[in-house]
Amino acid sequence: MGGGPAGASAAETLAKAGIETYLFERRLDNCKPCGGAIPLCMVDEFDLPPDIIDRRVRQMKMISPSNVEVDIKLTNPHEYIGMCRREILDAFLRHRAARLGAQLIHGLVQDITLPQTSTEPYLLHYNDLSNGSPTGIPKTLAVDVVIGADGANSKVAKAIDAGDYNYAIAFQERIRLPQEQMRYYEDRAEMYVGDDVSPDFYAWVFPKYDHVAVGTGTMRANKADIRQLQAGIRKRAAARLQGGELIKIEAHPIPEHPRPRRVVGRVALVGDAAGYVTKSSGEGIYFAAKSGRMCAETIVEASQGGKRLPTELDLRQYLRRWDKTYGLTYAVLDLLQRVFYRSNAAREAFVEMCADPDVQRLTFDSYLYKTVVPASPWVQLKITAKTIGSLLRGYALAP
Ligand SMILES: Cc1cc2nc3c(=O)[nH]c(=O)nc-3n(C[C@H](O)[C@H](O)[C@H](O)COP(=O)(O)OP(=O)(O)OC[C@H]3O[C@@H](n4cnc5c(N)ncnc54)[C@H](O)[C@@H]3O)c2cc1C
Repeated sequence: MGGGPAGASAAETLAKAGIETYLFERRLDNCKPCGGAIPLCMVDEFDLPPDIIDRRVRQMKMISPSNVEVDIKLTNPHEYIGMCRREILDAFLRHRAARLGAQLIHGLVQDITLPQTSTEPYLLHYNDLSNGSPTGIPKTLAVDVVIGADGANSKVAKAIDAGDYNYAIAFQERIRLPQEQMRYYEDRAEMYVGDDVSPDFYAWVFPKYDHVAVGTGTMRANKADIRQLQAGIRKRAAARLQGGELIKIEAHPIPEHPRPRRVVGRVALVGDAAGYVTKSSGEGIYFAAKSGRMCAETIVEASQGGKRLPTELDLRQYLRRWDKTYGLTYAVLDLLQRVFYRSNAAREAFVEMCADPDVQRLTFDSYLYKTVVPASPWVQLKITAKTIGSLLRGYALAP
């Protein structure tokens, strides 16, 4: 349920294995509020065609609270951070799943009736929107297994009482710039840190197809301040955004950690519905697609290609695999957020550290390839010393 990266990737895997698969999406032209940045490894792993990527970012400008700028550059011409429009990426993934045999249903799932026994089906009650009427035709489908890929406000999560997660709220404005200014963002993205743009996250200017996405995020507790924080990033980036035309305003929650229960019975949550966005970077597209695929692979295995009904225990295998593969990544990024985003002094230290070539290489490798390549002991020692030095200097300079 849900035709974003998580649902579409799950449906593709199931359909490829010959399992009868239905993919529900309420809006086939959905344009998920999103920065649209994806790591290089996703292009290969999900076999994305080159035209899905609008821009290839090779320079990331980090801007400290006092406006110290540090450029992180990718020197290998084959490496980049991909910037895409979600309406294009999601439609591509969805239609590929449909081509491979998943039945794509343009429908809004309204409710789920849970089974009374371990073998009864789940009943999905949905409004079929395929005839173009705004309310659609009410229908019901009986299914053996449900994958909840319906995003941060997941109905599936509510139906299985998966429990709440803390979340951040992200706000984003799309701004079309005059050609001259757009050239600056040709292959460059910007990240701003500071109390004025976010007390616990970062603000960004990301290049899109023919415009830039300018946004910020903050924890739910500071939700009331989001417009003021957005005004902060607009002010900091004002010179570069001059003459821009506002074309869209959007906001959406970003989960901050996994839900207490991600598998209940024969229902599994993936992507944002499960709570798989990383701290520090706020990255969720790749993890949504990977979790959808991993969950579906587990179902294919456990059901022997659809011949046997998988159990809750079978589905829990997906959770074990997920936590084993990505548990450390989440923990490290959580720690980084706690250390470096908690005060302007720490943020100054963070940006200063980003000037170090070893830190740049480590950061890019872990983002682009999702593998933490261990640095040599000497480099590790150097980075640790720099981290401590930068933090101490940052605090010493703090007012
Ligand atoms: C402002 C902002 C900026 C972000 N920037 C980035 C970024 O640059 N890079 C990055 O990696 N991540 C980013 N993220 C996070 C990223 O957008 C999410 O992690 C990602 O979209 C999760 O994918 P998903 O498939 O799990 O859920 P979603 O993309 O939310 O997809 C869920 C789908 O389910 C459908 N749906 C929901 N309910 C129903 C229903 N009842 N019936 C039928 N269909 C339903 C929705 O229409 C939607 O298409 C950002 C998030 C925000 C809010």
